[in-house]
Amino acid sequence: MSLDMRKILLLYTGGTIGMVKDYESGALKSFNFNKLLKHIPELNQLDCSINSISFENPIDSSNMNPKEWVKIATIIEENYSDYDGFVVLHGSDTMSYTASALSFLLENLDKPVILTGSQLPIGDLRTDAKENLITSIQIAALQSKGVPVIREVGLYFEYKLYRGNRTTKINAENFQAFASFNYPHLAESGVHLNVFTEYLLPRRKNKSLVVHKKMDENVAVLKLFPGINKSVLESVLQTDGLKALILETYGSGNASTADWFLNSLKKSIENGLHIINVTQCSGGGVIMGKYETSSHLKQMQVINGKDITTEAAISKAMYMLGSGVSGKHFKTVFETSLRGEMH
Ligand code: ASP
Repeated sequence: MSLDMRKILLLYTGGTIGMVKDYESGALKSFNFNKLLKHIPELNQLDCSINSISFENPIDSSNMNPKEWVKIATIIEENYSDYDGFVVLHGSDTMSYTASALSFLLENLDKPVILTGSQLPIGDLRTDAKENLITSIQIAALQSKGVPVIREVGLYFEYKLYRGNRTTKINAENFQAFASFNYPHLAESGVHLNVFTEYLLPRRKNKSLVVHKKMDENVAVLKLFPGINKSVLESVLQTDGLKALILETYGSGNASTADWFLNSLKKSIENGLHIINVTQCSGGGVIMGKYETSSHLKQMQVINGKDITTEAAISKAMYMLGSGVSGKHFKTVFETSLRGEMH
């Protein structure tokens, strides 16, 4: 190994990339990824020293939860000084949630943490896994003047690197499974690997990594729809222990102006519930007060989620509640971009 060879840690959490077909049932299930890696000789051609670890019991990412997020963040913390970059292999279903959560848990991150996965298993003839994995490793190894180029949590899929907390899974079929509607991609792989440095998070000099380990799960999401009734709304608002509600509204943050609706929200806010206005549109964001149908929400101090994704809003709320941000400051902190997750 040459002295300046980058050291990369690969962490397999589960997902299609390392799955094999159960020939009896035909369903995809997790496999021992370390064994599988031996079947990718291409990795030896990379000018990197790669170590890999795997969750003891790899999971389909539909089983991902905040405890696993903290586990991933802790593994990164424990190996932080020994590696130049980290690649987290993850199922695509909830990858955007994990990428968002990690961005909040890893404060002052100064090295790349790249999440990737695939739509087809790595052993499949037509797999998208090899390109995703190999380019993710190359991105995690990129340095300029001895400093990592990417110093944030990214998500790499089908030739594009995105800011993780800006992504959403948009397709269950296409290799291009992710999009970042409200923020440009950070890098693109073609004949050359082009990094768009102007979109990267600025370097936070002289700040060391702080790994947060508390996520408060007392959060819910309610997507509005024409015809939603009082009992549905009330049953969500009265959920035991609920501390924050992501309200997925229409268009630029609009909602019904019916008295029963506004009164219920108002009462809950007065009782200390944080209600966050996030648009159910894929692109664009909330502009409270633009229409009459959002001015009432603004008046009652509903939190402006601006152009944040629902995935990032959920993990941001869990992180802030877990960090004990007080009721008084919650709105101001939420409306501030902490990791480039909103404008
Ligand atoms: N169900 C799988 C998962 O999210 C799909 C994938 O790996 O892309 O774990």
